[in-house]
Amino acid sequence: MIIVLKNGVDKTQIDNLVNWVKSQGLSAHLSEGQFRTVLGLIGDVSNVDIDLIKGLSIVETVTRVSEPYKNANRKFHPDDSIIEIGDVKIGGGNFAFIAGPCSVESEEQICSIAGEVKAAGANLLRGGAFKPRTSPYDFQGLRGDGIELLLEAKELTGLPIVTEIMDLSHLPLFDDVDVIQVGARNMQNMELLKALGKTRKPVLLKRGLSNTLKELLMSAEYIMAGGNGRVILCERGIRTFETATRNTLDISAVPALRELTHLPIIVDPSHAAGISRFVKTLSYTAAAAGADGVMIEVHNDPQKALCDGAQSLTPEEFAVTVRGVNRIREAAKEN
Ligand code: PEP
Ligand code: MN
Repeated sequence: MIIVLKNGVDKTQIDNLVNWVKSQGLSAHLSEGQFRTVLGLIGDVSNVDIDLIKGLSIVETVTRVSEPYKNANRKFHPDDSIIEIGDVKIGGGNFAFIAGPCSVESEEQICSIAGEVKAAGANLLRGGAFKPRTSPYDFQGLRGDGIELLLEAKELTGLPIVTEIMDLSHLPLFDDVDVIQVGARNMQNMELLKALGKTRKPVLLKRGLSNTLKELLMSAEYIMAGGNGRVILCERGIRTFETATRNTLDISAVPALRELTHLPIIVDPSHAAGISRFVKTLSYTAAAAGADGVMIEVHNDPQKALCDGAQSLTPEEFAVTVRGVNRIREAAKEN
């Protein structure tokens, strides 16, 4: 249920209403936007007397929210959420480039790529330490050592780091990680999502291969229901009947999610395409669609990459992509 308050209502009146909501066993989510103040009620609202609330002098409108995701719902929070990671902001007009190799392979590899993507305009460094590979015989990642190497690259470049968690039991290893990624395969690992909800770390939540946007938002809701509102959504391509690309980039997800939620939305063109020469075009498409960022795999020697070399850009190609994306963002602003 959302209660839109009248303009100019004073704080004591809002506090009284919030306290009353809580006394009904519900939780209250207050969003003081630029143009209006909205109070979202979360919990079982079936017994709440809507007419009683409508009759209050400070209330403009009351509506029941039918969507099962409440915290993630734009109706509860009309303004875009901005997630801050150190000096980097994502959302609400702030665009981020997240770049780096699919997986951390060595100190030399991650540190040199980190320097190069930073010089090209990256705001955050990505790199998998725990890798969800389809085959158990493929490189599984450097695990805890990989996180240590990412932290070294961070120290060197100042870039905050993004890396994937695959199992709840590894959470203590992520203490110094800036953004925890939940990969497509774990989007519905509810226990993991609940545990991340108890942290206050930004979570980059990737859409599952066969999941709807509603399911993605419900997964975000799991994290947010625990009190962690710092969720960034990522469209990374879905499974379709098409085989020309690794997955199919669902670009409509960007405008569709934009309406449904206030959370930042980024696009991963690398896993969507699976083919490096398509990554630039898909990045441009993401920028034109109004995404809040792109996450791009970059490797200094793609042909020798231990994972996802075929979809990895060289640092030079990444630099060209950054420049093009920025030009498209400028052009999009003019509309
Ligand atoms: C990744 O980002 O390296 C990754 C494994 O992505 P996804 O979960 O989208 O497949
Ligand atoms: Mn990858």
